[in-house]
Amino acid sequence: MLSRMEMLASVNERPKIAVVGAGPATVYLLYHLYQARLTSVDIDIFEASAYQGCGHAFNPETSYPNLLSNLHPDDIPSLPLNYYEWNAATVGGESFPPHSVLSRSTVGRFLAANFLWLIHELERRHVVINVYPDHFVEKLCESENGCQLQADGRWYVGYSAIVNNTGLINPAEGTPYPLDVYRYIGQPRFTIFGSSLTAVDAILTIAQANGQFAGEAQDLIYRPNYTYNIEVVSPSGVFPNLWYPSSRQWQITTMMKGRFTEELSSFDSLYEALCLPALACYCPDVYRQIARMKFETALRFLTQTYTCCEARRKLHCELLAFDAIESQGRFHWQEVIDAFLSLIETSGLHLNAVSIRQNNRFPHALTAKALGALPIESARKLLALFVTGTLNTRQGSMATSDAIKSYPHHVVMDCRGVKPEKREQGNNKQSAHAVKFCEVTTRIFAGSPHQRTNALTLPGLDTCNRLNRTIAKNLIDMTNGVNRALSTISLEGV
Ligand SMILES: Cc1cc2nc3c(=O)[nH]c(=O)nc-3n(C[C@H](O)[C@H](O)[C@H](O)COP(=O)(O)OP(=O)(O)OC[C@H]3O[C@@H](n4cnc5c(N)ncnc54)[C@H](O)[C@@H]3O)c2cc1C
Repeated sequence: MLSRMEMLASVNERPKIAVVGAGPATVYLLYHLYQARLTSVDIDIFEASAYQGCGHAFNPETSYPNLLSNLHPDDIPSLPLNYYEWNAATVGGESFPPHSVLSRSTVGRFLAANFLWLIHELERRHVVINVYPDHFVEKLCESENGCQLQADGRWYVGYSAIVNNTGLINPAEGTPYPLDVYRYIGQPRFTIFGSSLTAVDAILTIAQANGQFAGEAQDLIYRPNYTYNIEVVSPSGVFPNLWYPSSRQWQITTMMKGRFTEELSSFDSLYEALCLPALACYCPDVYRQIARMKFETALRFLTQTYTCCEARRKLHCELLAFDAIESQGRFHWQEVIDAFLSLIETSGLHLNAVSIRQNNRFPHALTAKALGALPIESARKLLALFVTGTLNTRQGSMATSDAIKSYPHHVVMDCRGVKPEKREQGNNKQSAHAVKFCEVTTRIFAGSPHQRTNALTLPGLDTCNRLNRTIAKNLIDMTNGVNRALSTISLEGV
C-alpha cells in the first residue's frame, strides 16, 4: 500500500483521462480498465444528466416500466456484478423464463449498480475518479499540450486522452425518448414514422396508456379503453425480426474461425467461405433456401423485405417459427448472421467492411431489420393490437420532416432514428456526436457504438463492450508509454 505522500507524488505525475458521458459505454470502459489492473491514472467523467451508468435507453426513471430490452440476463456482456446475485439481493430474486428478456429499466439499474461498484473499486486502487453530473460538454479539442474540453462554459485541460462516450442522442436536442405518454391519452389517431424498436416502444407505450393487455402468450388480447388507431408508416412496412438468443454464438464463431484463410479478402468471399457453411450446419432448412443467393439478397429474403409483406403475417409466422425452432433445440439464422458480422468487425478485417459501406452497398437498415431482435413479448402484443384493429402498418415514404407535418389531426411521432450516413455528411447539427473517421491519429477516442458509423452489426451493449475493451487497451498502453497508433478519428464542428 502506498503512503499518502507517495500517493500524492505519484498523483501529480500521472496522466489524466477525461470521459464524456456516463452511459453503458463508460461502464464497459471502467470495467476493462479495472480488469487490466489500472492504477496510475486520474479519470474525470462528465455527464450531461443527473443519471450515472444507464445512459438514455436504460434510464430507470424514463423508460416506462413495460418497455422491454432485447437482453436476456445471459446476453448482457460480462460485468463485475453477477446479474442473478444482484437481482436476488435487490429485488428479491425475480425468476426469468428461459426466453424472456429484461425490462430496460432493470438493465439500467443493473448497469448503474456496476458503475458505482467499479468507481468504488478503482478508487480503492488509488485511481482518482471525479464524476461531474449535470455537466454538458460543449467542445473537445486536442493540441500539442494535450486534450481539453469545455463544459458549461469552463475549460478542463491537461488530459492525455479523452473518450467520447456521448451516445446517439444529444440531450440538448430532444429525442423521442422519454415518451411523454400522458400527453397522448385519449387521442383518436396516432401516426408513427419508422418501424424499428423505437417505433415499437412508442406503439406499446400508447397502447398501455390507453388500454390493457390480458391473457398469456398466444392467447394475449388487447382491450382498448376507447376506439383509437395507430398507423405505422415506414419504407419496409414491417417490424424488425424476433429476438434470438446469443449465448451460443461462440459455437458458430469457433466454426467460422476454423475456416478462415488469408486469401479471403472481400466481403463476398468471406460470406461464402464462413457464413454459408455455418448456415448449412446450424440452420439447414434456411440454408437450402438461400444457398445460391448473395448476402444482401439472402438478407432481404430472410427479413421478408424482398417482396411486399404484411407486417401482421410476418409477426405471426415468426412467432410460430420461433416456438418450433426452440422446441427442437435448433439455431436461429440471425444467430449465425450476427456471429458472422461480429467476427468481421473484430478480426482486423475492418477495412473490407468499411469499403462495402462506403460503396453504399452495405444494407445497414436491412441489417437493423434482420438483427433488430424484437422481444417476443412485444411481438405478441403487436399481434394483439393488429387483431383488435388498433394497429395498422403502411409502406410509405418518410423522407422529410415536412411529410411528418402534413398530419395535422394526428399525434405524430418521429421514430426514424438517426441514419449514420447522414451524420457523416456533416449536415447534421448534433455536435455531441459529430465524429468522423479519418486517417489522423488522435488521442480522442470514440467509444459510443453509435459514433462508429462503420460498425456492421447493430450497436447494443455487446458493441459498447467491444469498442471500450479496445480503447481501454490503448489507454493502458499509452499510460505505460507504448507509442502505438491510436483510434483513428477526428472531431468535426465541436
Ligand atoms: C430506444 C432504444 C432501445 C435500445 N434497446 C437496447 C436493447 O434492448 N439492448 C441493447 O443491447 N441495446 C439497446 N439499445 C442500444 C443501447 O442503448 C446503446 O448501445 C447504448 O446505450 C449505448 O451506450 P452509450 O453509453 O454509448 O450511449 P448512451 O446510452 O446514449 O449514453 C450516453 C451518455 O452520455 C451523456 N451525454 C451525451 N452527450 C453529452 C455531452 N455533450 N456531455 C456530457 N454528457 C453527455 C448522456 O446524458 C448519456 O448519459 C437501445 C437504444 C435505444 C435508443
